[in-house]
Amino acid sequence: MKSFKTESKRILDLMINSIYTHKEIFLRELISNCSDAIDKLYYKSLSENIGLNRGDFDIKIYADKDKKTLTISDNGIGMTEEELENNLGTIAKSGSLAFKNENEKKEDIDIIGQFGVGFYSVFMVADKVEVVSKAYGSDKAYVWSSNGSEGFEIKETEKEGHGTDIIMHIKEDTNDDKYSEFLSYYKQRELIKKYSDYIHYPIKIEAETPAVPKEIDENSDTIKMATTIEWETINSMIPLWRKNKNEITEDEYKEFYKDLTYDYLDPFMHMHYSVEGAIDYKALIYVPKRCPEAYFSKYFERGLKLYSNGVLIMDKCKDLIPEYFGFMQGLVDCELSLNISRETVQHDRQLQRIASNIEKQIRRELQDMCDNDRERYIEFYKTYGLQLKVGVYNNWGMDKDKLQDLIMFYSIKQDKYITFKDYVEAMAEDQKYIYYGTGSSILSIKKMPQTEKVLNSGYDVLCMTENVDEFAIKYVASYKEKEFKNVTDGDTGIENATEEVTDEDKPIVDFIKETLATEVFDVRLSKKLGDHPVCLTTEGEVSLEMEKVFRAIPEGDPNAQNVRAKKVLEINSEHKIYNKIKGLFENNKDELKEIAEVLLCEAKLIEGLPVEDMARFVSLVTKYMAE
Ligand code: ADP
Repeated sequence: MKSFKTESKRILDLMINSIYTHKEIFLRELISNCSDAIDKLYYKSLSENIGLNRGDFDIKIYADKDKKTLTISDNGIGMTEEELENNLGTIAKSGSLAFKNENEKKEDIDIIGQFGVGFYSVFMVADKVEVVSKAYGSDKAYVWSSNGSEGFEIKETEKEGHGTDIIMHIKEDTNDDKYSEFLSYYKQRELIKKYSDYIHYPIKIEAETPAVPKEIDENSDTIKMATTIEWETINSMIPLWRKNKNEITEDEYKEFYKDLTYDYLDPFMHMHYSVEGAIDYKALIYVPKRCPEAYFSKYFERGLKLYSNGVLIMDKCKDLIPEYFGFMQGLVDCELSLNISRETVQHDRQLQRIASNIEKQIRRELQDMCDNDRERYIEFYKTYGLQLKVGVYNNWGMDKDKLQDLIMFYSIKQDKYITFKDYVEAMAEDQKYIYYGTGSSILSIKKMPQTEKVLNSGYDVLCMTENVDEFAIKYVASYKEKEFKNVTDGDTGIENATEEVTDEDKPIVDFIKETLATEVFDVRLSKKLGDHPVCLTTEGEVSLEMEKVFRAIPEGDPNAQNVRAKKVLEINSEHKIYNKIKGLFENNKDELKEIAEVLLCEAKLIEGLPVEDMARFVSLVTKYMAE
């Protein structure tokens, strides 16, 4: 007896004492494995000219009510001894256990679906399972058996023909669960229709009515029943995506999505295309409700399933969907030349054209939603806005034209998310720029003196709260010929915002500038700061937000970490602190130096920039408070 790997053991334990209420999905999982196994063999046959036909394949489900066993058989590719051990001896997807621990108490979570522990779901309904398998081309068959808790055994056995039989010894009924119903014709029929209708190989079960009496033994009263089983094909075999849109219900789309992705939530939306003409294809694409967790990690693999004439060619064909729509799931079915190998698929020109078409269709659909169903689009955008903005930034802004109309930011004046188009349409006539502020939250941007300055001039400010935002905007650069302008930019183009320094003020400003020379590029006086004593603005390309992002890159390039914005300290000449400054300039320049230092620290703190010598800052503030 071989033991399951530790983690597998605990998952199995979870399966057996399942927190999951829909135990019936085991059938869907097993059928889907059978279909995959047949796909693999059919594909092999096509590419190696083995000569098997689609009609040669089927999946059979047989219930033995006396022995309480349910058997699912396929004549697919089968498994070797080694494959039985590797494929059924471990649960590969490791996230599952952590997930389980976190969600110990939540009841109805489709952990099975979510992590694709497919095969193991049999242990929800069976207390013993035997998997008899013979790999295609091999003359040896093996049986893997397990009761799910201890471990498993593999022995040599006999089996006619290639493929796999999964024999489940169905559990005894309990008060809560009627396992025996899985042995009934009606239940099987219902489940196959519900979950596996589109599987494109026939799924056969024993016909409802018993086989007709074949012959009557005149010497006996008993009627001899036919020994051959009469099979009935239950599924329609037409893949969902090949059906007409108006023949598909919303529920069917949802069910199919869950089957495709193992997501336990309904999808956010689906897009179903059937294109005929210069290029022929069908595509069914879903936007999940949540972004895949690992999306931004290197482990994330984007891609659509690729079918050619209904045969699965590739599970994740990444060339079918651009990186910025990588969170979408789905499939494409088209007619590729059959000698195409999985490796050369990427280079196929036909496929490139399909991909580019699909990209446009998706974009059009999103744009339509953005223009006509804003509320729903905002819901979409709250989940995927970041992905789109990263899309604008990636590849040196190559895709910015495609994506810029799908991007939104929160507008302070309108108090909602708006597009650049909305912003420009609402712009004042004399307004030159599209203004934006950057910070860790909308609130912090709203509270910035620089924002107030722009708002006070009657212009709207867009809030950018994510690291990528400003970098992406630098690539967009302008929209409808209006350039983007950070409110912290030294030159916001707002007249009379910073004053011409008078002869009287000039020596004061120069003195402060000299005092802070190592830290700031310039010192200016400003009138539009409201109640704020000071603020920081910048000159040149690097903004304060960008400096922050660069500083935060862990173990990054030291050159990047040392990137500094050219800072300008703006002092509110209408604030009473300026009177104090004037007085100190006359009477006590040493104190003025300290006050200048404190003001710069304050301006940095408002921006969320670090103050290097915090202890000194505190002691200076306290000194003046105590005065
Ligand atoms: P998944 O299907 O998500 O990979 P499963 O736990 O359902 O995970 O199955 C594990 C593996 O066992 C499959 O990937 C496949 O290689 C193999 N397998 C399962 N059922 C069959 C079958 N009927 N025929 C051939 N191989 C199978």
